[in-house]
Amino acid sequence: MSAEPMPINMLQFSRDLAHLEEVLTQAAYSIGPNGFERSAKAASYLTLLRALTDGAEPVPAIAEALRVYKEVRQQKYEIWASRAELEKERHERLMAEEEITRKVECPYCGAAPQTSCRSVGSSRSVRTESHRGRYRLARGLDDKIWKGQKP
Ligand SMILES: [Zn+2]
Repeated sequence: MSAEPMPINMLQFSRDLAHLEEVLTQAAYSIGPNGFERSAKAASYLTLLRALTDGAEPVPAIAEALRVYKEVRQQKYEIWASRAELEKERHERLMAEEEITRKVECPYCGAAPQTSCRSVGSSRSVRTESHRGRYRLARGLDDKIWKGQKP
């Protein structure tokens, strides 16, 4: 004894399918630490939906969805990992510059050596990066010292 399948409202079905495809397409572009997993899932689900609505056999459709899952996950992971590496390098460069910057007093806000710049203007929060001019001044002094020591 099997239950009769629910009659399908084809207009509603097409609308819902189009909406789901849109949601999955957007999710397939996810970025960030968990983005590669999310976008791989979305891309594989989208592949499965499209294959089945095009009348493909279920098993080959699932096999293709699995292939897409692995491929997209790997691609997105590589993109994410290279971005994370660039961000780490940028952070390290800023920290190295900040260390040089703090060797001199800031000519703009008067921050003493070894302290970070105070912000200028309405915001009173401490700046994460010292004034750029202070960095150049500190670098200039470094270069003079280096030139002076040259044989
Ligand atoms: Zn300053």
